[in-house]
Amino acid sequence: MSYPEKFEGIAIQSHEDWKNPKKTKYDPKPFYDHDIDIKIEACGVCGSDIHCAAGHWGNMKMPLVVGHEIVGKVVKLGPKSNSGLKVGQRVGVGAQVFSCLECDRCKNDNEPYCTKFVTTYSQPYEDGYVSQGGYANYVRVHEHFVVPIPENIPSHLAAPLLCGGLTVYSPLVRNGCGPGKKVGIVGLGGIGSMGTLISKAMGAETYVISRSSRKREDAMKMGADHYIATLEEGDWGEKYFDTFDLIVVCASSLTDIDFNIMPKAMKVGGRIVSISIPEQHEMLSLKPYGLKAVSISYSALGSIKELNQLLKLVSEKDIKIWVETLPVGEAGGHEAFERMEKGDVRYRFTLVGYDKEFSD
Ligand SMILES: [Zn+2]
Ligand SMILES: [Zn+2]
Repeated sequence: MSYPEKFEGIAIQSHEDWKNPKKTKYDPKPFYDHDIDIKIEACGVCGSDIHCAAGHWGNMKMPLVVGHEIVGKVVKLGPKSNSGLKVGQRVGVGAQVFSCLECDRCKNDNEPYCTKFVTTYSQPYEDGYVSQGGYANYVRVHEHFVVPIPENIPSHLAAPLLCGGLTVYSPLVRNGCGPGKKVGIVGLGGIGSMGTLISKAMGAETYVISRSSRKREDAMKMGADHYIATLEEGDWGEKYFDTFDLIVVCASSLTDIDFNIMPKAMKVGGRIVSISIPEQHEMLSLKPYGLKAVSISYSALGSIKELNQLLKLVSEKDIKIWVETLPVGEAGGHEAFERMEKGDVRYRFTLVGYDKEFSD
């Protein structure tokens, strides 16, 4: 199988004009012994893509190809490959493409917390190459960060699991989500929708917690057991006193959460875990006394082991996440960005049609 020296992607040209990505050729990173080349066939559109493209997280090197929910087929394996992956196999890459693999964190399935972490796009590797993402014909990554996709999960439904799904699965599994537990999912966006489906599949009694009733019907269709509209229920912390073992905050900003209210709804020892990355200037103000026997933490992504577990769970329980597809390309990228910014998506976009857009 042959393919070009240069990769081609739908790239952001500047933060000012981030909603109008342009088709751009670029050099791939150097090919190392454990690298894998993947011909891409689908890529999810994550909230991080918008934050990065729009410059919410600072200035990025341009042009920039975003996208870190990548599904495709292996076309080349490095000479020292020992992952067991095969040429032609359908695989996925999430939001992380590198870590040291030697520190205690890496060795204990905590790659996202390694200090050598490299994100799938916009971050320099140790050799200086700035990573490029999945709105492109190919991606080249270290094999440790490549996972096989189970046969019964279609590519457009597998893609959003690779970042969004994993980001909510990791705090669920690490904090005891399962039968007999009451779990709240705050914010029914893309990640919250996957969190609701996954929490139910793990056997927990699942509450969707949203500001208004607008998404109640969808939440129930996803299998939620209960729905709390916080703006319509007054002090919902009193009403649901001593209810939750775990709340995962999937809302886009933690500063929207009223920490005078939420801790009251937690059981003793309950945990509130946030997964959203706010804009750089946001700060949290807390009254420590209000956090009686409740802990708050931040969870980043998830490990490769957890990603494999999640894909197995989705495959075995036949979980169908809610996805809209758009054609990859300048127009499709523009539409995805426009509609994501307005929250006009049910509940996640996956870019498809790669064969048509990229001929070689
Ligand atoms: Zn993401
Ligand atoms: Zn490490």
